[in-house]
Amino acid sequence: MAAVSGPMPIVDDSRRADALPRPDTYDIELAARAVKVHCAVKQWPDGERCLNCGWPHPCVTYRWGRKILVADGWTEREIAALDSRTGVWS
Ligand SMILES: [Zn+2]
Repeated sequence: MAAVSGPMPIVDDSRRADALPRPDTYDIELAARAVKVHCAVKQWPDGERCLNCGWPHPCVTYRWGRKILVADGWTEREIAALDSRTGVWS
């Protein structure tokens, strides 16, 4: 392996979600499922937590799924409609 010399390359990771390439159908279905399952539970003493993994909401999985859906052009209303629970825990 050759030694790296010179300054480290600068990587631009500041792209916005809407600048990402349009996700494919598999990504969108997986992202919608992730957002649906990793929704917030508001009844914890320290604030909202993820129903699925228990981390503070929004958890990393929810944020990933939401980013994919936004990149696909979903509206806030469409994303919110994924949370179809009839109660906080169901
Ligand atoms: Zn989660």
